[in-house]
Amino acid sequence: MIPVTKTFLPPQSEYNAILKRAWDVRWMTNRGALVKELEEKLRRHLKVPGLIAMTNGTLPIQIALKALSISGEVITTPFSYVATTSSIVWENCTPVFVDIDPTYWTIDVAKIEAAITPKTAAILATHVFGNPCDVEAIDAIAKKHGLKVIYDAAHCFGISYKGNSLFNYGDISTCSFHATKVFHTGEGGAIFTQKKELLDTLFYYHNFGHKGPEDFYAVGTNGKMSELQAAMGLSMLPYMQTVIESRRKIVALYSALLKDVSVQTITVRKDTEWNYSYFPVLFESEDILLKVKELLNSKDIHPRRYFYPSLNTLQYTNNTTCEVSESVASRIMCLPLYHDLSLTKIEEIVHTLKTGL
Ligand SMILES: *Cc1c(COP(=O)(O)O)cnc(C)c1O
Repeated sequence: MIPVTKTFLPPQSEYNAILKRAWDVRWMTNRGALVKELEEKLRRHLKVPGLIAMTNGTLPIQIALKALSISGEVITTPFSYVATTSSIVWENCTPVFVDIDPTYWTIDVAKIEAAITPKTAAILATHVFGNPCDVEAIDAIAKKHGLKVIYDAAHCFGISYKGNSLFNYGDISTCSFHATKVFHTGEGGAIFTQKKELLDTLFYYHNFGHKGPEDFYAVGTNGKMSELQAAMGLSMLPYMQTVIESRRKIVALYSALLKDVSVQTITVRKDTEWNYSYFPVLFESEDILLKVKELLNSKDIHPRRYFYPSLNTLQYTNNTTCEVSESVASRIMCLPLYHDLSLTKIEEIVHTLKTGL
C-alpha cells in the first residue's frame, strides 16, 4: 500500500537511548530534562527566539486566541485543516471567512479589509502546505486596524521566508508535530512568539494558569508536552535535513513528470525556503479528481483530499460563500509524499494519474 504520507521514524535504538534518560529519573512530564532540551535545540535549529513545546498543534491555536484576549470576530481562511476554524469557534469567537488567492491558496489579502467590522479582533491565517501568506500585507492591514495576527503554521517546520523563520511572523505562530507532519513527536506541537512577555503569558495558559506552585495567573488549560513525546522529537531532529532533502528530490521528480499535464501544482511564494511537506495537485474538475482517486485506489495508492471541504461550508459556521476556496477544495488532492517513496512508485503514480485525465 502507498499511503499519502508515512511517518519517518529514527532508529529505535536511538529513541530508546533517549527514553532511558526519562526512565532513569522517573520523570515523565511537567517540564523534564527532555522537553527543556528539545525546546533549546528547536530554538537553535529553527532560529526562533521563543517557543513552548506543547502536546499537539491545536491547543496552541486556542491558547493563542486566549492569551491575546481575542473575542468577537476573527478573520480567517476557509482553506485549511478544520482545526483552524474549530479553534476559533471553541474559543467562542466568530470565524469570518475571507476567500483565498487562486495562485497561492492562502488568504486573499485584497479581500481582508472589506471583511473588517468594529467587532473584528484578529486575523488567523494558515500558511497552507507551508506556503507563506502575504505576511507583509497582513501586517500592514493589522497595524492599520489594530488587529492581532496569529498564523496557523502547522505545516511550516523548517521553512524560512526572506531569510527569517516563518514562525517569526505575526504576534503568535503555532505548529503541529503530529505524526503526519514533516517533523513529529507522535502527537505534539509548539507555539512561537518573539515577545518575551507574551511568551510568559502563553506559558501560564498552557500549564493550568500556574504562576508558581500556588499562584495562578488566570484560568488555564493543560497543553504540556510529555517527556515521551520530547524523546521522539530529540531522536527525530538529527534526521530532519536528510528527510527534507529526500522530499525535495521527490517533489522535483513529480514536478518534472507533471510539467506538461493539465493539472496545477503548488506555486510557492518567492523568497521562501520550503520544506516539501505536501504535493497538492489541482485538477480541472472534481469529476476528474474523483476518477483519478479511484484509479489510484485500485492500485492500492491512497492520496488524500487535503483540504476538503472548504471550511466556510461547515455546519457550525455562518455559511458565507467563498467561491475560490470552494472550487479549489473540491478539485485538490495531495499525492503520496514521504522520505523513502521510490522513484519507480512516483512514476507509477503519475502514469496512473494521467490515465484518468
Ligand atoms: C495538523 C494541523 C493542525 C492540528 O494539529 P494537531 O497537532 O493534529 O492538533 C492544525 N492546523 C493545520 C493546518 C493542520 O494541518
